Amino acid sequence: AAIVATALTLTACSNGSGNSSTNNASGAANAKIGLLLPDSVTARYESADKPFFEAKVKQLCSGCQVLYANADGDASKQQQQAESMLTQGVKVLVLDPFDGEAAASIVGEAKAKNIPVISYDRLINSPDLNYYISFDNEKVGQLQAQALVAKLKKDNVPAGSGILMVNGSPTDNNATLFKKGAHSVIDSSGYKVLAEFDTPGWDPAKAQDWVSGQVSQFKDQIKAVYAANDGTGGGAIAAMKAANVSPLPPVTGQDAELAGIQRILAGDQYMTVYKALQPEAEQAATLAVALTKGQKPSEQTTEVATAGGAKIASILLNPVAVTTDNIESTVVKDNFYGPDSAAKIC
Ligand code: BGC
Repeated sequence: AAIVATALTLTACSNGSGNSSTNNASGAANAKIGLLLPDSVTARYESADKPFFEAKVKQLCSGCQVLYANADGDASKQQQQAESMLTQGVKVLVLDPFDGEAAASIVGEAKAKNIPVISYDRLINSPDLNYYISFDNEKVGQLQAQALVAKLKKDNVPAGSGILMVNGSPTDNNATLFKKGAHSVIDSSGYKVLAEFDTPGWDPAKAQDWVSGQVSQFKDQIKAVYAANDGTGGGAIAAMKAANVSPLPPVTGQDAELAGIQRILAGDQYMTVYKALQPEAEQAATLAVALTKGQKPSEQTTEVATAGGAKIASILLNPVAVTTDNIESTVVKDNFYGPDSAAKIC
């Protein structure tokens, strides 16, 4: 691990450039904006999405107020949080649903009050959404599986060898897309899926429990673990370490969370997917502030269809696969963990 870590030279580590783009859209002077995030078992929400969103709103509209709530993996709690925000007079909801089907009722209630809703990161199955902002999520799954398959081939792991798949929450439309993208690669790779699990609420502890059971059952037949994000990947790695699996097979992840990057540098995790959360949160904030003024945002949009077939104006950002080779040119360069990102990783 020490050898790998030195690949992050001091120059590169201290070279990250700040993100100082400005945007002059200004919102209704004192508008309240609701931000609802889905779980607290995943680092990104409170370490990245929330602060990036709040800072951008403040920059665009100093009198605006962000009301924030985290659903802690509970759809009915999120419903109550949203209703409370509507009662408090928010002018727009930015909603990352714990459950993309259940959250349609929140969108309906907001619409009845003429309050627009931005579906944030995860798509809600409602025709009444105003916007959707996310990443190309099928591509996330493809990047994970391509990296894993390429690593197995590079290591001359024979065709027919087994992969465990630790997918995301069955209530999350993104998890469905990650899985679809991953299968599109694995199913034609010559490797086989030994077993597959949809992790309730993306809970790392549940992923860990499941992988423990699989290790007892399949033992050294497990040549790789597809894990849909860094939280579940961390759970998988913990389970294998507890069972003294050595060497660890390659494990994927997503979010480039600090613990995931540190596991990559330590050699415990093979890759992650970096999604630039600052532009995602900032574009959501810019849209939200514009909507508080009744403006139609001018961002370049595409269209994404909900499960029910409604076409939603959308912004989809590009995910990037990260291994030891490009940590510097991605998360370090973007100061993803704040101005002292390099120091935090190195
Ligand atoms: C997000 C991932 C996150 C996961 C668990 C997904 O919808 O896109 O970035 O790791 O949820 O919260």
